[in-house]
Amino acid sequence: MKIEIFPSGPLDTNAYLVSCEKLREAVLIDAPSGAFGEISARLKEESLRLDAVLLTHGHWDHIGDAGRISREFEVPIVAGADGRPLIEDPDFQQSRLFAGAPLDKMSIGVEAKDGDVLEYAGFKIKCVDVPGHCPGSLAFVFEDGGKTCVFVGDLIFEGSVGRTDLWGGDFATLEKSVKKIYRLPDSAAIYPGHGAPTSVGAEKAANPFVRA
Ligand SMILES: [Zn+2]
Repeated sequence: MKIEIFPSGPLDTNAYLVSCEKLREAVLIDAPSGAFGEISARLKEESLRLDAVLLTHGHWDHIGDAGRISREFEVPIVAGADGRPLIEDPDFQQSRLFAGAPLDKMSIGVEAKDGDVLEYAGFKIKCVDVPGHCPGSLAFVFEDGGKTCVFVGDLIFEGSVGRTDLWGGDFATLEKSVKKIYRLPDSAAIYPGHGAPTSVGAEKAANPFVRA
C-alpha cells in the first residue's frame, strides 16, 4: 500500500491517493479543488487505475474536484448518506457554510454506512461513522500487512480536533467519535484532512481536546 498526500485548495485540504502497487489500482480520499490536475498526472505517470473517490465528509474544501474526478474517471463518489445535502446541493452548502466558489454538481454513487467494508483497489476498507464535525462524516480504516491506517477527515488533527460550530456540528458527538478511533491500536496511523499524519497512541497521550 502506498499513500501519497496532495494538499490542495485554499485551506490546504489533504487529498490522499492510496494505491496498491501490485494491482496498479488506487482510491482517492477527499478531492479538494485543485486536486484534479495533480491526481490525473500521478495516475498517468504511475499507470494507476482509479477505482473510487471516498469522501470523509461533505464540506466544500474536501469535495471541490470530486464531481470532475468522478466524471472523468467514471468512478463512484462514496460517502455517508447524512452528507447528501452538503454534497448534492450547492445552494445548501453556500447558505450554511462559507461563501466560496460555487460548487460543482455531484451525487453520491455509493452510500457507505457504519460497519460497511468496501472493496476497492484490492483493499478491504472499513467504514466508521464519526459524526460531530458534520453529519455524514466517515472514517476509512485500511489494514495492510499488520499495519492499520485510518483516514479521519476533520475529526482529529495532530494535537487538535475538528470544529463543531458549523451546520450539524456537536462537540459531545465528536468526542464519542474520536473515542471510537482511540479504540484502534496505538500504532495505527491517523491521516487527517489537514496537516501532518499522527497516530492513535500519540493523540491518546497528548490530544488536549479529547482524552483517552
Ligand atoms: Zn470539514
